[in-house]
Amino acid sequence: MSSLSTAMECAAKGLVAEPCAGGAHRRCGSCGAVAYCSRAHQFIHWTLHKEECARLATQMSHIDVLSQFPFVFSIESPALNHAIPNTRCFFLESFKVHLKGLWKSECRCGPEISSVKDLSITAEWNMESSLCPCTEPGNSLSAPLASWEEYYRWRSLPLHSPAAVLLHWPLTLYHCLQLSRIQASRCDANDTLRIHYLGPEKELLQLPVFAELLALFPGVHLCIELVGPTVPRSRDGEVLNISSYAHCSAESCCCRSFAASEDVNCSALTLKLWKGVYHERYSDMV
Ligand SMILES: [Zn+2]
Ligand SMILES: [Zn+2]
Ligand SMILES: [Zn+2]
Ligand SMILES: [Zn+2]
Ligand SMILES: [Zn+2]
Repeated sequence: MSSLSTAMECAAKGLVAEPCAGGAHRRCGSCGAVAYCSRAHQFIHWTLHKEECARLATQMSHIDVLSQFPFVFSIESPALNHAIPNTRCFFLESFKVHLKGLWKSECRCGPEISSVKDLSITAEWNMESSLCPCTEPGNSLSAPLASWEEYYRWRSLPLHSPAAVLLHWPLTLYHCLQLSRIQASRCDANDTLRIHYLGPEKELLQLPVFAELLALFPGVHLCIELVGPTVPRSRDGEVLNISSYAHCSAESCCCRSFAASEDVNCSALTLKLWKGVYHERYSDMV
């Protein structure tokens, strides 16, 4: 960890009028993922950092597991990991997805999760089919995926595709299930895998990307219970069945000819929404 901190730059560098006071030796005490040259710069940067801080704090608290967790380290440009709002917008704009479809909540211009009542499961990639996984994989997995490179190769995506930014959610789940030694190959068609997913935030506005779990766990029924205070009250207890991949932007792509199954009992992926904190809602989740 110490080698990491010497390599770190003050997160407020270039964003504030006063130049940095020296090396960034002061780490954010709650997430530990960013560092500052001075208390003053840390204070100024907090309004930009507090949102990502909460998410990073959760990740960093599992650092022992995550150090062998390839899917945590996304292939985003380093600038994107920083809380500099405009950089993120430019990155999204360069792929023509700024404020579009699934990407709407990827920058600060997008809606607040708390203000959103419509958790759509029809949002789309808004990218051409070669850049996003909108159809069945060409072949099933022969060995567990260990890196984004392997995943991209398997899904025939070019490495410059930004899809990993959103696929972070389903692939994190995939990796957690691998760690807990649940092998998809051991599950027969009648198995249901139940997952308690705590504290969802902006991924609530990106639920269609969870469809990628259909490709990662073929023939397995997955039921994900998303529980957290950010779930809108009006959606509490809602059940969402996902049976097709998020669509690409091509009207003629075969991803649009998949008819979503109307049969609730035969959907391979079910999402359930619960508003509140886990220990209070646990008994509802049976
Ligand atoms: Zn500084
Ligand atoms: Zn922090
Ligand atoms: Zn933006
Ligand atoms: Zn498509
Ligand atoms: Zn079924």
